[in-house]
Amino acid sequence: MSAPKPARVQCRDLYIGYRYDRPVLQKLTLDVEPGDVLAIVGPNGAGKTTFFRTLLGLLRPLGGEVSVSGLVPADYRRQVGVGYLAEDTAMPDGWRCDGILTLAATAAGPDTDVGHALRLAGVDFKTDVPASVLSKGMKRRLALALALLRPIRLLILDEPESGLDPGQRHRLRRRIERMRSSMTILVASHDLGELALMSDHVLLIDQGRGRLVEQPEGGFTRDFLEQEFLGLEGAVQWPS
Ligand code: ADP
Repeated sequence: MSAPKPARVQCRDLYIGYRYDRPVLQKLTLDVEPGDVLAIVGPNGAGKTTFFRTLLGLLRPLGGEVSVSGLVPADYRRQVGVGYLAEDTAMPDGWRCDGILTLAATAAGPDTDVGHALRLAGVDFKTDVPASVLSKGMKRRLALALALLRPIRLLILDEPESGLDPGQRHRLRRRIERMRSSMTILVASHDLGELALMSDHVLLIDQGRGRLVEQPEGGFTRDFLEQEFLGLEGAVQWPS
């Protein structure tokens, strides 16, 4: 059987959130082609994590359609696997890194490759130490390795740059460049930094609305994206 291709993420008229009378995001339509990098940029509370929960199949859409390579998100996650780096990378207290990796690899199933995941995530430090002694940047890399244990075709990174210094941010972006040949990558950020500028598309979200911005000729610039953000005024109304 041939290996699955990078995922295609499609949403049509999607409404997401926790309450029907107060959707977090409304009328979202987008099509992310296999192997693309999509940055999702919006202020805190705009709905980035909620969108990811929906794509992981943990949250049912309030309306509209969402699919990953033609499957509903929960089926895609179960059948192909999705790598997810949560915004909060809390590690179990007192556990050594190698113990955490072994536990996660055991839970993930037979086709895991810990060494490959560590290399992809840039874990170049000793793992026979308690996770509690790691710096924030090292914890993020360990968490990224956990997301990459299985051969995945969709990687979701929720604010992966938070807490990283400029050198670590730069290395993270290089890692994303390397991984994109084998997977589609969705990455959230709360600013219009380098991560957004290196992406193929940027989904700007604020106050319930999302706008997909395609890369202009010559690439994204901060000015260009700032102008696009200004066009995102006021929430669309929930249909009666
Ligand atoms: P972001 O990731 O962009 O910071 P979130 O998706 O976390 O934003 O939050 C979007 C909105 O949904 C916020 O108003 C937040 O308070 C609300 N929210 C987040 N999680 C829940 C939940 N489990 N139940 C109800 N509301 C939630």
